[in-house]
Amino acid sequence: MKINSVKLFKTIYTPKDIFPEPRAGEFVFVGRSNVGKSTLLNIITNQNIARVSKKPGKTRSINFYLINNKFYFVDLPGYGYAKASAIEKERWRRIIENYFEVRSWNIKLVFVLIDGRHELQKNDQLILDWLKELELPFSVILTKIDKLKMSEKVRMTRYYKKLLGDKYILIPYSAITKEGVPNILRLIEQLGGE
Ligand code: GDP
Repeated sequence: MKINSVKLFKTIYTPKDIFPEPRAGEFVFVGRSNVGKSTLLNIITNQNIARVSKKPGKTRSINFYLINNKFYFVDLPGYGYAKASAIEKERWRRIIENYFEVRSWNIKLVFVLIDGRHELQKNDQLILDWLKELELPFSVILTKIDKLKMSEKVRMTRYYKKLLGDKYILIPYSAITKEGVPNILRLIEQLGGE
């Protein structure tokens, strides 16, 4: 798949904001703050669309990027930022919950980004549970895999494969080595993102 054009099409700030027209569906990116989501979006679109931050926990909106004038990449706000206030965390939960409930019919695939250096954390579990409950298709991208020694990489990959079972695809990925990037693009292409 080749991404020829990327346009920030709509930003959603509250559950009252109206989602954009469906087009040919949407691919969703979600993960803990600082997991590497902005970096990944920039790599696969080959553009600087998302802000890579040294200060985590800043984005609180849902961004719809129109890709090739056909389908969307949806960038959900990062979760699990320790310093966020209880009100902020609650706001995040409402925005995301509303998004999945209102919009699941237009979702082709959700990419759940998880830091490959750590075992599953509570917020990640929550997202996976939600997605299963809503019967949404998802794949897990294990990020920052370049930071692991080979033996650790094998261990963590096995751990996540076992945790996910056969139904869900696991993609070990690194922004440094670009491992996993072709797999991600292929998945998008296979599901109709052309
Ligand atoms: P976001 O908060 O999920 O959007 O995360 P960012 O994309 O802003 O990345 C957070 C930090 O992790 C930045 O310093 C990135 O340069 C770094 N980072 C992102 N992906 C990788 C990766 O695959 N490997 C390594 N080593 N660092 C990464």
